[in-house]
Amino acid sequence: MTHRYIFVVGGVMSGVGKGVTSASIGKILQSRGFTVTAIKIDPYVNVDAGTMNPVEHGEVFVTDDGDETDQDMGNYERFLETDLTSLNYMTTGRVYQTVIERERNLGYQGRCVQVVPHIPEEVIRRIKKASDHARADFTVVEIGGTVGEYENILFLEAARMMHLADPKKVLFILVSYLPIPKHLGEMKTKPTQHATRTLNSAGIHPDFIVCRGEHYMDKPRREKLSVFCNVRPNDVISAPDVSSIYRIPGVFEKQGFSDEVLKKFGVKPKGADLRQWNTMANVQENAKKTVRIAVVGKYFATGNYTLSDSYISVIEALKHASWANKAKIEMDWINSEDFENNPEKLKDLSDYQGVLVPGGFGIRGIEGVISTVKFCRENKIPYFGICYGMQLATVEFARHVLGKKGAHTVEVDENTTDPIIHVNPVQLKNIRENRYGGTMRLGAYNCDLSSGSIAQKAYKTSHISERHRHRYEFNNDYAQMIQEKGLTISGVNPQTGLVEIVELKDHPFFVGVQFHPEFKSRPLRPHPLFKAFIAAALKK
Ligand code: GLN
Repeated sequence: MTHRYIFVVGGVMSGVGKGVTSASIGKILQSRGFTVTAIKIDPYVNVDAGTMNPVEHGEVFVTDDGDETDQDMGNYERFLETDLTSLNYMTTGRVYQTVIERERNLGYQGRCVQVVPHIPEEVIRRIKKASDHARADFTVVEIGGTVGEYENILFLEAARMMHLADPKKVLFILVSYLPIPKHLGEMKTKPTQHATRTLNSAGIHPDFIVCRGEHYMDKPRREKLSVFCNVRPNDVISAPDVSSIYRIPGVFEKQGFSDEVLKKFGVKPKGADLRQWNTMANVQENAKKTVRIAVVGKYFATGNYTLSDSYISVIEALKHASWANKAKIEMDWINSEDFENNPEKLKDLSDYQGVLVPGGFGIRGIEGVISTVKFCRENKIPYFGICYGMQLATVEFARHVLGKKGAHTVEVDENTTDPIIHVNPVQLKNIRENRYGGTMRLGAYNCDLSSGSIAQKAYKTSHISERHRHRYEFNNDYAQMIQEKGLTISGVNPQTGLVEIVELKDHPFFVGVQFHPEFKSRPLRPHPLFKAFIAAALKK
């Protein structure tokens, strides 16, 4: 089969939504009947995203095969409605690691191993492998960062080499930004002109320029960019701010983007369309009902923007589930530390129809989360705890229902009298030896559900598989005690007996899951537990 490659590179500045743009380009080609996959290249030296702070780098997105990757991989999975693997993600660290290992194994047969060509060659090998694995007609490759940065030069070099080898199979898209300075009130193209030149100096000419900006671009600007950047006017694509990221494929198609891409490749479309997708993209605007959800966590110290990146898959999963329930969603982010400083504030949680506590690590804000759980449990507010949100729900239950006042997770209190969340010997060794990278319980694990449980009714099946990312586990010494008092264990890993789901009897919805269901939610295939949580919330 023929594989074709689309490289997406950034210009002017980061943070303009290159990931969503790449995902949308993939989506429109998929909607024309092609198999599409996507690759994210992170220029960091980190081997994976698992060791990066989510406030700085955004969410760590986990794949089925247990890779800790960049949040853009989540966008690709959601837009392309597919499961990706570690083949779809690379970092500078990972590429060098492979090359160095190969050298140590005499894989280069005595030759001198050099940054060029051996590093770009390894990048190309990885791109082709991912494309082969997905049997992809088109592979969208997003190169992180912006052109002109030292960090991504070797990746641009790989792209240039691929184009040189087979120019008809490779094209380049520059995603740029057109600022509108307040004092001018006019959209400026000059930074994009410079970005194009910088890309040219790497031996690459963009086939398309996608222009992010507050508004649609007007004709004079399009013509200017066309002339100064040497691309046809039709190949300058406008990407204005929109109310929902899921509208972007529609915005692109209005401008005939996929037609132009296919024309350049000399490929005829095979049919299909975006209708169902576009209907979903408009629910938030059109829905008559609203559901109000509080997300209580700690990774949003610097305002909404930080939050939405740290928990992006949770937020998207909440949206998908609300839309499937024909409701628009209003979310508030509450810093759990607020409840520690001011316990009176807990009452504000009654204003919400549901409370979600997402994953997290460490000590900060933990007592605030435990008070949140208590408040939701006692006041029958729908509660959905994910990973740490599940673990702390069991801590709360042990303390206030079992009467074990000193109960805790050993992550926070090593010497707790009641380690209801504990750590196994393998993980303890990892911690003692500072072996943190890639050593958590990661990726997909099976889970058996007990019949008649909230979980089983939501999933409508008794055997599921979900993705994990945690080091600590529920301590089965407490299994009988919590169940006797009404906190049911409704999901267990059949191979290990590890507890994966707990839920409360006599409560409208109180579910804690050790895994991360948010990673598997898709806009048109919302996650069953999120859907059930929102349905319960709408009843409040
Ligand atoms: N800190 C907990 C653990 O490592 C939970 C992790 C998470 O919420 N992702 O087990």
